[in-house]
Amino acid sequence: MKIALFNDNRLGVVADGRVYDLTGFVPWDSHRPQESLENFMGQYAELAPQIEARRESCPSHPLHEVKLRAPVPKPGKILAAPVNYLNHQSEMNAQFNNAPFTIEKLGLFLKAPSSIIGPGETVYLPSKERRYDYEAELAFVIGKKAKNVPPEKAGEYIFGYFALMDMTLRGGEDRSWRKSFDTCTPIGPWIVTGDEIPDPNALQIRLWVNDELKQDANVRDTIWNCCTCLAKASEIMTLYPGDIITTGTPEGIGPITKGDRVRIHVESIGEFSVNVDFAEEQG
Ligand code: MN
Repeated sequence: MKIALFNDNRLGVVADGRVYDLTGFVPWDSHRPQESLENFMGQYAELAPQIEARRESCPSHPLHEVKLRAPVPKPGKILAAPVNYLNHQSEMNAQFNNAPFTIEKLGLFLKAPSSIIGPGETVYLPSKERRYDYEAELAFVIGKKAKNVPPEKAGEYIFGYFALMDMTLRGGEDRSWRKSFDTCTPIGPWIVTGDEIPDPNALQIRLWVNDELKQDANVRDTIWNCCTCLAKASEIMTLYPGDIITTGTPEGIGPITKGDRVRIHVESIGEFSVNVDFAEEQG
């Protein structure tokens, strides 16, 4: 199922080019979308058959007539994988560092949850002087509390998958600093539940800047796949429903600037775009 938040944070299911409004059909408070999503995920096993059976009786809108929102609006935490593709590890170490970065040495890092925006919104770059890069990634949302989960059981704790852009300030500061500015984490276009993604570690990821293809790679080339990322994270900290893990970006990163339009597509999930501007020119 494709689970979307839309308009004033209503809950929808996307099918056949339409958004079916579940807001009156399942427990949902649009003023508390993150808490509502966490409750929804907890009840999903019971709710899914009812939604499938009665979806068509819910009010619906053509997809292009709604405003999609960030599908996980305010996670407790965002954990992100650095240099998790071998080819990207090579390009990063060639461009930015003589001491090799590896995910095994670095582990995952935290991004500020306040950096999330949704499809069609604008990424505001904090400074005109610094370099900012796009990074296309596959991300997932935790569906149930996870601690010390072995990789072979990790899939049971993943509610669903979506596309994520990890917009990045380049430089010497800590990753959490450079990857936490407001608006630097666009996510969307919706959550595709785990049952529709039999192998998340085989999805193709593509990213375009102004319709020029910049990244085109497959999750199978990650060093830590989705299950390993979840397992390693859960050794260190408890993962809670609504937390996000993002699995890192492949080769092909490059700069963005004011006026750019950045589009991400993940196979079996879908696509969305964001615009880029300078924060200081914001009204
Ligand atoms: Mn990244």
